[in-house]
Amino acid sequence: MSSEHNAFESMLEEFSGAARLLGLDPGLWKILTHPKRQIIVSCPVMMDNGQIEVFTGYRVQFNITLGPAKGGIRYHPDVNLDEVTALAAWMTWKCAIAGIPFGGGKGGIICDPTTMSARELEALTRRYVAEIADAIGPDKDVPAPDVNTNAQTMAWIMDTYSMRMGTTCTAVVTGKPIEMGGSQGRREATGRGVMITTREAAKHVGLDINGATVAVQGFGNVGSVSADLLTKIGAKVVAVTDWKGGVRNADGLDITALLAWTDQHRTVAGFPGGEAFDRDTIFELDVDILVPAALENQLTAKNHHLVKAKIVAEGANGPTTPEAHQALFQRGVFVIPDILANAGGVTTSYFEWVQDRHGYFWEEGEVNRRLEHKMVEAFNTVLETAQKYDTDMRTAAYIVAINKVATVTRLRGMYA
Ligand code: NAD
Repeated sequence: MSSEHNAFESMLEEFSGAARLLGLDPGLWKILTHPKRQIIVSCPVMMDNGQIEVFTGYRVQFNITLGPAKGGIRYHPDVNLDEVTALAAWMTWKCAIAGIPFGGGKGGIICDPTTMSARELEALTRRYVAEIADAIGPDKDVPAPDVNTNAQTMAWIMDTYSMRMGTTCTAVVTGKPIEMGGSQGRREATGRGVMITTREAAKHVGLDINGATVAVQGFGNVGSVSADLLTKIGAKVVAVTDWKGGVRNADGLDITALLAWTDQHRTVAGFPGGEAFDRDTIFELDVDILVPAALENQLTAKNHHLVKAKIVAEGANGPTTPEAHQALFQRGVFVIPDILANAGGVTTSYFEWVQDRHGYFWEEGEVNRRLEHKMVEAFNTVLETAQKYDTDMRTAAYIVAINKVATVTRLRGMYA
């Protein structure tokens, strides 16, 4: 998407810093930086105007050493193979850090869903699934929602796959509607993980979360739930933005009212409970905590020096370029890296997959209790690693992940 940096190059740079500290074997280094499989498909769709359009779709399985590939599917005009590959790599490290038995995958289709009807989106989704059907499945690769895809998209994927298999196969995707095998708590899980890791980070840096001020970039699934749950533990969300604009209120935004507003207006812009401001100045605000929860490459060489926050909790994937990250770390800003901060989504996806396979479903309290446990454990493991290696949390997160995947790769040995 917006790029000062190619996302895959950013991933490689982050990987290299950690691999060097770890003294990673050069052969394993090569294995762990090459995608296992990259699939490109063309998806013809009959549009509502009677014309045929052909959309390009991708599915990348970056590494499946720990288990089936896991990762979302993104619909966006700027989707490209490098980006999907980087996102699939990040999923690999994220699953390893979260301690769940999945590898990393990601998918995307180059399209602009804002200009497409529900019927066109359904046709595109079903054709994409038909094209990649041989490569996905509960034991192979389990997609989930990402930017511009949702529970309905997952329902279409599950149905298309099930029709091909001749049997209802709920465990082929996660993030499904609850009525058809989705998990309680999944919709909120990524934001809940952001809240949990932010709370733990605040404890670590000695910031009282009660009354701490927060600015959130992006008010979609991740941003809105993060804002809501941070408010519920006492933090004060004073600014939020989305693609259309920003709204701020120094006394704290009423997030419940803002959620109702965005339900109706599809944007935070125009919300009467605060004043409008330029969405691109969100990271300059004088707040304790920043939550980038929109897209990648948002904290860059252009704006990192303007950051005043003590904590940056990366709800989005890849929101901070390596250069900006390095500068923030040098200045003592505590960055909770994406592969830790937003791992709540994939962790609860794992719970959903487990429940589908058992055919036995847990109550929401059970899901949230297990998520809390996994996120706190992951946070502490990464923090202890950062202290042990005297490094930042991102490098530490990579060290934890690389170590796990490298150990299993070594144990499994080379098949040839
Ligand atoms: P979403 O489509 O629900 O929300 C994205 C939000 O970002 C929207 O509010 C959009 O208006 C806003 N946005 C777009 N451009 C913007 C800009 N320039 N400035 C401010 N806001 C802007 O997507 P989501 O599911 O919330 O995902 C957001 C990020 O979190 C992505 O990087 C995604 O990969 C990552 N993520 C999502 C999940 C999940 O479970 N949904 C899990 C892990 C990571």
